[in-house]
Amino acid sequence: METQQLFFINIGRTNMKKAVYPGSFDPITNGHLDIIERASKLFDELTVAVLVNPDKKGMFDIDERVDLIKKVTKQYDNVSVVSFNGLLIDFMNKNGIDVIVKGLRAVSDFEYELQMALMNNKLDATKETVFMMTSAKYSFLSSSAVKQVAKFGGCIKELVPDELVELISKKVK
Ligand code: ADP
Repeated sequence: METQQLFFINIGRTNMKKAVYPGSFDPITNGHLDIIERASKLFDELTVAVLVNPDKKGMFDIDERVDLIKKVTKQYDNVSVVSFNGLLIDFMNKNGIDVIVKGLRAVSDFEYELQMALMNNKLDATKETVFMMTSAKYSFLSSSAVKQVAKFGGCIKELVPDELVELISKKVK
């Protein structure tokens, strides 16, 4: 009986499907959050990985972005948030992750994302990219659009999680 139980536990472990959702998330929007919520239902573990790009100064620094994403995803037990630099493939291998989740909003996203997916697959053929279609209500939403609207004093209330509205408005002042 004990051996049988152990066997099932092990099977469960080896079948764990882990995915990573990489991006800049400067800042996280409701469009990102929608992908996180939907992907968290498809995979056993989802890691949101904030890309460190030393050449690009964002509105929020990396630690702030990680903290904000943690705050707005705390209700999802299987979602964790980290930052990473270097190759995504290396990060995935270090963490035993085989699937990359990306969101697609429009045809314009497709060309870039196809190139990235093929490059990652060329670097490591064990990695798959899974594309999730944007929800129609967020198809126009991007971090840069949010920053632009906020900069000109527009309302960003339905574009980002509530916790971020004040913070973003302060940053653009
Ligand atoms: P953005 O393009 O908004 O600046 P990121 O570079 O952080 O954001 O994007 C990370 C991932 O999230 C990409 O796969 C991108 O296509 C996806 N994404 C961003 N916004 C949306 C949205 N509104 N709906 C679906 N996917 C999205």
